[in-house]
Amino acid sequence: MKTQSTAPSHLRPVAKALVKALPEGTVLFDDDVTSRSAGIWRTDTLKARILVKPRTTEEVSTTLRICNELGQSVVTQGGLTGLVESAITQPDDVILSLALMNQIEAVQPLERTMIVQSGCTLQSIQEAAEAQGLMFPLDLGSRGSCTIGGNIATNAGGNRVIRYGMARDMVLGLEAVLADGTVVSSMNLMIKNNAGYDLKHYFIGSEGTLGVITRAVLRCREQVTSSPTFMAGIDTFDQLSRFLKHVDRAFSGNLSAFEVMWNDYYKLVTTPPSLNQAPLPENYNYYVLVEAMGASEEQNQQALEQALEEDLIADAVIAQSETQRLQLWGLRDDVAQVFQFAPVFLFDVSLRISCMQDYVEKVNKTLQSSFPDSKNFTLGHMGDGNLHFAISVGRDDTQARKLVEAAVYEPLKDIAGSVSAEHGVGLEKKPYLHLVRSQSEIRLMKQVKHSLDPNGILNPGKIFD
Ligand SMILES: Cc1cc2nc3c(=O)[nH]c(=O)nc-3n(C[C@H](O)[C@H](O)[C@H](O)COP(=O)(O)OP(=O)(O)OC[C@H]3O[C@@H](n4cnc5c(N)ncnc54)[C@H](O)[C@@H]3O)c2cc1C
Repeated sequence: MKTQSTAPSHLRPVAKALVKALPEGTVLFDDDVTSRSAGIWRTDTLKARILVKPRTTEEVSTTLRICNELGQSVVTQGGLTGLVESAITQPDDVILSLALMNQIEAVQPLERTMIVQSGCTLQSIQEAAEAQGLMFPLDLGSRGSCTIGGNIATNAGGNRVIRYGMARDMVLGLEAVLADGTVVSSMNLMIKNNAGYDLKHYFIGSEGTLGVITRAVLRCREQVTSSPTFMAGIDTFDQLSRFLKHVDRAFSGNLSAFEVMWNDYYKLVTTPPSLNQAPLPENYNYYVLVEAMGASEEQNQQALEQALEEDLIADAVIAQSETQRLQLWGLRDDVAQVFQFAPVFLFDVSLRISCMQDYVEKVNKTLQSSFPDSKNFTLGHMGDGNLHFAISVGRDDTQARKLVEAAVYEPLKDIAGSVSAEHGVGLEKKPYLHLVRSQSEIRLMKQVKHSLDPNGILNPGKIFD
């Protein structure tokens, strides 16, 4: 490891100032920077000048103050599980990794809150809540690697949005450091606080462009004692939409997941080399994983019997144990199987459920016209109007990427959808922001950016130029 004493001479001004101001071992160079992965599911490594790994808010503040004074760009990184190139760096950037700010400072069972540093992994937060009889409801497939700072910075969604909302709905307060090093403490501990602007919302979903989130107050819930879970096979999209309304009513507000897999995705994750067993035959057009946290097994049984009677579903399998529940979720979470067909383009779009069937058909038709052998593995948090596509067309050159992106994004304009349901914009969706946000919205976003980061040092070039 090359640390402070070996700062290469061409990096001098910024490197020298950081080395002088921060504790030994905090500022890293060379291999420690260039051996860093560019992100999950990527084989390349990052190019950047310096890696700073602070342990305290004060160290984050010092880093930003120095970089701001010297006009040095800074890219904040959490667990690098983001999927839209929002934490990617340029060779001249300084990386600010929050990985060592990973302390759970407090769990308050009475208030059902937690105070955490932003480098804590989501899983460590879920486990700390559970140890006190609580539940932190945010849940994503990347839970073991993603950090709560990254979750807040991307306003992450995940598996339980239909019931508990997105990350935004689970953050009561936060502490953030502005580009000039100012620490804004907005560590509100209450559910209600309408005294003036709610400043946390500037930072939630801002993808590291407005400030660095260092700590947060999280809202937990009581642990549920039962989580009935089943998977159903369904023939038509109309039945699928009606089944969503049916289970939402039948579970009286306890529906917590409605995860749909199209037939091609289901086949992929239940066929070798995938290790999953198929719980239902492969002949249905749609498979839906339903979970109702807090509902009773009786409600579950009734909901299913009624759905079968009303011909909303063709078949179903109920998880009879925690192992079986995890097996059903294992199918939904085994997205990495799509890389059997690499190169693959991943998408995360949002639209009204009433437009979904036509939209998917349109995307597939356009893809087929340009790439007759294309595959589009489709799944999504359908209860939230959120679809994921994993599209393989046999190549990933610029022309192919543009055609595929146009096929997916352009139809969203006419149906008032969004190019990003939950992953953010980063670099990847920047060219398409104008399709789904008005000129006045983008202008205001830029004004906010300029007022909080006038020198444009924080994650420059992400979301918009
Ligand atoms: C298998 C898998 C499943 C996934 N499922 C979902 C899902 O269901 N829902 C969903 O929303 N996403 C999902 N994702 C995407 C990803 O996990 C989320 O975007 C996650 O919130 C990113 O967290 P991270 O710590 O990895 O952030 P990073 O990837 O490191 O960074 C993401 C962005 O946040 C910024 N950032 C990170 N930390 C901070 C901080 N402390 N302060 C300010 N800015 C910061 C970065 O600059 C960057 O712009 C999934 C990814 C994978 C690989």
